[in-house]
Amino acid sequence: MKRVLTYSIVFLCANLFAQYGLGQDVGKIKTIVIDAGHGGRDPGALGRKSKEKDIALAVALKTGHYIEQNLSGVKVVYTRKTDRFVELHRRGKIANDAKADLFISIHCNSNPSRKPYGAETYALGVENNRTNANLVAMTENASILLEENQDDIYDGFDPKAEESLINLTLFQSEHRDQSLDLANRIQKQFKNRVGRKDRGVHQAGFLVLWKTTMPSVLVELGYLSNTTEEAFLLSAKGQSYLASAIYRAVKEYKRDYESESGAYDYRKKAIEKQNDAENKGPGKNGNTISATNHKKSVKKNSELVFRVQFYTSPKKLNNNDSRLKSLDNIYIYQHNGMYKYTSGKFNSLAEAEKHKETIRKKGFADAFSVAFYKGERISISRAKQILNEK
Ligand SMILES: [Zn+2]
Repeated sequence: MKRVLTYSIVFLCANLFAQYGLGQDVGKIKTIVIDAGHGGRDPGALGRKSKEKDIALAVALKTGHYIEQNLSGVKVVYTRKTDRFVELHRRGKIANDAKADLFISIHCNSNPSRKPYGAETYALGVENNRTNANLVAMTENASILLEENQDDIYDGFDPKAEESLINLTLFQSEHRDQSLDLANRIQKQFKNRVGRKDRGVHQAGFLVLWKTTMPSVLVELGYLSNTTEEAFLLSAKGQSYLASAIYRAVKEYKRDYESESGAYDYRKKAIEKQNDAENKGPGKNGNTISATNHKKSVKKNSELVFRVQFYTSPKKLNNNDSRLKSLDNIYIYQHNGMYKYTSGKFNSLAEAEKHKETIRKKGFADAFSVAFYKGERISISRAKQILNEK
């Protein structure tokens, strides 16, 4: 059977509306939790002259200060403001209790070799080439070895076992796209405005991001094991630059989520252009590529549909990419410059969940169900509400 890929590209308004229910402040970013990694008896990575906990705290306080000074109406909550030990699970709980809209955990990297340098930002998730990302996550997760009762609290989680990372990534999938969006913006700022080497955006199983109920990222500012980078990280100027880069990324993220209508016109144009290009006949490999106006197509069909999202990428995959071969009924949507790949189309969540299991078995370990209403991505809880109203 010839597989037909229908490429429908649609701009989606901010998910935040859907995610935080109804109320006068929906879609606004009001509370941001800044988490300085380590602290107290947990120094984190050690440089020749520095401790990770000190640099993380300095940059965290500066970041929070810039946000408070320049983003009116935004409250900053710190997981620590002094050199004290805070358990990893408590950090997430602080964010959840504050009903935070963003969680940013700040850290520094280290390597047995002095060569590596540069900044990278993580979201909770799994990536294909996972060795490096997993090593970073395992190092950061090892903080729990300094905690009391860690076996009870983390249910026997072994921070030294790579397998244990996978279980973590089954959580929080709903916010992964937004987390990756913020992570991308932070990296862009590090690279373009602070001149850091861009080590990219990655995903791995970080305990500190586990169970946070909002978009959350973990920033590795640079390598304390690299002499030049350590000097930069230790300098007041370096810390200010890094903090203002994170602040600017947050500002842009906030702006784009809160001014949907303005962003809509801008993006709609870009997407129309792309649709024109896509419409120029059959694709390579004989796949038929047809761009559909999403708004039109949903009118014909049900207004509420469920799909299974299995992949997010800043770049569009090639039509004959091996990752797409085993999947059918692929639908792609675009949000904040990221391409989101979904498979299947269902009227009920139960059907989508069943399909999700199949997709996960095909190697997309953190595939998850998503809902669309009248062409817009909405949260699963909102979808359930709509079903109940019917
Ligand atoms: Zn750390």
